Amino acid sequence: MFRLFSDVRCLDHRPHAGYPEVPARVEGILDRLAPGWRGSPPPSPPGLEETVAAVHDEGYLGRFERAVARGDLLLDSADNPLSAGTWRAAWAAAGASVAAVDWSLAAAGRQALVVVRPPGHHAERDRAMGFCFLNNVAVMAERARRRHGLDRVAIVDFDVHHGNGTQHLFEERADVLYVSLHQYPFYPGTGARGEVGRGEGRGFTLNIPLPAGCDDAVYRECFAAEVLPRLRAFAPELLLVSAGFDAWRADPLGGMRVSEAGFEEWSASLAAVAGELAGGRLVSVLEGGYDVAALPALAAAHVKGLTVADV
Ligand SMILES: [Zn+2]
Repeated sequence: MFRLFSDVRCLDHRPHAGYPEVPARVEGILDRLAPGWRGSPPPSPPGLEETVAAVHDEGYLGRFERAVARGDLLLDSADNPLSAGTWRAAWAAAGASVAAVDWSLAAAGRQALVVVRPPGHHAERDRAMGFCFLNNVAVMAERARRRHGLDRVAIVDFDVHHGNGTQHLFEERADVLYVSLHQYPFYPGTGARGEVGRGEGRGFTLNIPLPAGCDDAVYRECFAAEVLPRLRAFAPELLLVSAGFDAWRADPLGGMRVSEAGFEEWSASLAAVAGELAGGRLVSVLEGGYDVAALPALAAAHVKGLTVADV
C-alpha cells in the first residue's frame, strides 16, 4: 500500500525572489500525484516536539523561532533566508515526515512519499544550512528508534548533494546506517569515501562520491555493487530515503546526467530490498530538485518505482 504525505503549510516558507527552493516544487508534485490536495493541515503527530528535540539542540530551535519572530532575513547562512512562515513550514514538514513513519510502521507493506519543504539533509544539530532548517529524515529515523523501538534504520540519500547533517547526526552510531551517492567534490564539501563513521558507528556510514556527469548506468552499477549489498548486510527494519531529484540531467544546480528512467529503476530496487528485509516498510522524503517543470515527472517516476511490486 502506498500513500503520499504533505501539509499545505509547507508553502508558507516564501523567501526572496530568485531563491531556487520555491513553493512551486511541492505544488507541482502534489498537483500531479494528488490532485485536490489543498486542504486543511493534518493534525500534529503526538510527541512531535520530543522527536524533533532528539535531533536538534534546544538552543538552535529557540534561535530559529526567535529569528523568524523578529523578522530576521537569514538564519546561519545566506542559503537560509527566512520569511514569516518559515518556522511554521519547517515544523509542518517535520510533522508530515513523522506521520508517514507512524503510518508505515503500523502494518507491513506500507510505502510512503513525504512531499514537503523546506528540505532537511543539510541541517545540522545546531545549525541551518543549504536550504535546510530541520533535518526531516533524521527526525524520521529518531521517531522509528525512540517511539517505535526499532533497532536498525537505514537511510539512502540519492540527492546530488551530500547530506552532511544526516551523516553528522548518526556517524557515531551503529543503529542508523547512512548511505549517500552524491556529486563530489561539490557542495557542501563533505562525503569523501574515507568518511565511514566513527567509534561505534564506524562502518555504518557509506559514502559513494561520484564525479560530475554520471548517468543512469553509473548509478545502476553503484546500487548493484555497493548500496544494495550494504543494505542487505545491515538488514534494516525500516528503509528511509532522502529523495533529491537534483541528479536529474537538466537540474540547474546539479551536474549529473540521470534520466527519469534512472530514478524509477533505482527506486524499484530500493522497494525490492525493503520488501526483502523490512517487511516492505519504506518512507521517502523530498530533499532537493530544482528543475521545477521536470520535478512532477521525476517524483512520479520515483513513485512508480517504489510501487512496482504493488501493481
Ligand atoms: Zn541537493
